[in-house]
Amino acid sequence: MNINILSDHQLALLSQLISDSHTIVICCHVNADGDAIGSSLGWAEYLRSQGKDPVVIVPDMYPDFLHWLPNTDKIIRYDKHKEQGDLLFKTADLICCLDFNHPSRIDEMAESMTKAKAPKVLIDHHLKPEVESVLTVSCPEMSSTSEMVFRIVWQLGGFEAMGKHFATPIYCGMMTDTGGFTYNSTRPEIFFIISQLLTKGIDKDKIFRNVYNNYSEDRLRLTGYLMYQKLRVDSSRHAAYFTLTREEMRRFHFTKGDAEGIVNMPLQIKGLKLSISLREDTEKDKMIWVSLRSVDDFPCNLVAERFFNGGGHLNASGGRLYCTMDEAEKIVKEAFLAFTDTLK
Ligand code: 5GP
Ligand code: MN
Repeated sequence: MNINILSDHQLALLSQLISDSHTIVICCHVNADGDAIGSSLGWAEYLRSQGKDPVVIVPDMYPDFLHWLPNTDKIIRYDKHKEQGDLLFKTADLICCLDFNHPSRIDEMAESMTKAKAPKVLIDHHLKPEVESVLTVSCPEMSSTSEMVFRIVWQLGGFEAMGKHFATPIYCGMMTDTGGFTYNSTRPEIFFIISQLLTKGIDKDKIFRNVYNNYSEDRLRLTGYLMYQKLRVDSSRHAAYFTLTREEMRRFHFTKGDAEGIVNMPLQIKGLKLSISLREDTEKDKMIWVSLRSVDDFPCNLVAERFFNGGGHLNASGGRLYCTMDEAEKIVKEAFLAFTDTLK
């Protein structure tokens, strides 16, 4: 099966950039998810096999359910080690930007990344890439950046030498960006890739359990609470939303990542097409994180762009609002009115 994604020119350029470099910084988006971390760790593992010195830098904390992945102990958090991060960007020979399409997606790290002199390579599956780079590999049709990293390593001829420390994070990233291969994952290439990853001895069932069955009791009860008490369903508009306040987060001993995935649950309701969650920031007032999920061809990314200062994929998007929760709920209702007419 031909799974190559780089043109001959891109392949030659990437090989050259890698061979010309020693210290390589890999960075990914704020609130890193399984794909951001998985693709970064997988790419770092490949670069290490080439005798390079890769460093993964993330803007801030990432969820507990990813900490079991191999080599996470080497990841540098920019919010904790700003000076070290700035120095790494400044002195890197090459910077690889993974799983984001715009500098604003790496928050505080953006200035240091954009100012850095080193050539940049962007590998991403979001729409409209806008990161200045010498090489942009953009494939919005791919399930995940992890899938792209697999294909690139395959095309570079590096897969044979890879082991579990490559296969595990790549599988994890593909799995989390497709909701455990339940959406955006119908192309046969994905299952060819999985079959290849399995030859490295990964335990895919364990990876699933490590990610999805690894929550605290509080998180499960929070899920129940939100679905029972907080979910607002507008059946006539095939849409639903729920809110999560700081007070509720305290009550359920919320830790980062606890909200992950809950926004998908309302889509279990028959006929529902759009689900939105509104979550207060744990520190900043008037700062609300928005997650959107949709099914079929309903474009939640357009809703995110128009109403929530965000964007993303057709069926999974995000954004943020700078207002109170009451105001945010009004905006959600406006969005329902504006976008769900076509569904009636
Ligand atoms: P989540 O709901 O998990 O935070 O985000 C879902 C998807 O939307 C992710 O693939 C993420 O990359 C994208 N996304 C989240 N927030 C933003 C945003 O502010 N802007 C854009 N363009 N995409 C976002
Ligand atoms: Mn992704």
